[in-house]
Amino acid sequence: QHDIDLAAADQPAATTDSHRMEVVANIANLNDAQKSVSLGGEGVGLLRSEFLFLDRATAPDEDEQAEVYSSIVKALDGRPIIIRTLDVGGDKPLDYMPMPAEENPFLGERGIRIGLNRPSILKTQVRAILRAGKGSTSKVRIMFPMIATLEELRAAKEVVRQEALDLGVSNYEVGIMVEVPSTAVMAEQFAQEADFFSVGSNDLTQYTLAMDRGHPKLAAQVDGLHPSVLRLIQLTVEGAHKAGKWVGVCGGIASDPQAVPLLIGLGIDELSVSVPALPAIKGQIRELSLTECQNLAQQAVQASTAAEVRTISRGR
Ligand code: PEP
Ligand code: MG
Repeated sequence: QHDIDLAAADQPAATTDSHRMEVVANIANLNDAQKSVSLGGEGVGLLRSEFLFLDRATAPDEDEQAEVYSSIVKALDGRPIIIRTLDVGGDKPLDYMPMPAEENPFLGERGIRIGLNRPSILKTQVRAILRAGKGSTSKVRIMFPMIATLEELRAAKEVVRQEALDLGVSNYEVGIMVEVPSTAVMAEQFAQEADFFSVGSNDLTQYTLAMDRGHPKLAAQVDGLHPSVLRLIQLTVEGAHKAGKWVGVCGGIASDPQAVPLLIGLGIDELSVSVPALPAIKGQIRELSLTECQNLAQQAVQASTAAEVRTISRGR
């Protein structure tokens, strides 16, 4: 039984009607990268680079970052990787990056806003990522967190352009997290200027429903399968595909068996899941048909509540 599962784990995942889905992993360090390969991960859809910056007295310099990213890229042995730039701020402060207290940290200096306000941090990290990609057989992609406006994307891309020019690197890709409703709504415009999208459903749900994702009293209601969130994902896919760009999901719903058929049906191209979930999600995809998933997704976006969506998904 175990041998059979492991053999299947290494195979790509396609539906019964041959619709191929890319299944990659969310990781935080080298150990996760190695595990993801052994469990059949086809690459990394989200490296949360925060791990390198937490629990220390100073920020890691360019060389240290380049070395860590390179070791992770090597462990993936040619598989693609998306490295997300530092996503701290709000509720995740760093001792060596003093930030004024904010009334609404989740709506304040978070994600890419930190990188744009402190250019040396973003610039250093971008250089380290570009260096890890240089001379590697893997496709190393850069992704910005919490993008809410095109101005933010343009400013962040300009940093990459300058550093790539300086390092003599030309084959890079720049994508964005879609985790703010404005970005999902404007996906068609963003798709003109980003190489790929990855839906951060944890934050997208929090910002769409205006419910703190970590609030104990709201936990039961903050559901990424709420029809409003699914409609935003639908808009994102439509906008991206019109421009020939692809869309992944790296938020928690990508690892939720009740969400997987709906995401496939909505046209999502890549699922980035927690490392332990890799074999099960690939197994589930092999038992679904694209037509059935498209039917379910159509019903789900017409539903009125998250509970209804879950009933629809369970009833298939
Ligand atoms: C998300 O918001 O869905 C996401 C993947 O990013 P994080 O959970 O790290 O905020
Ligand atoms: Mg997020």
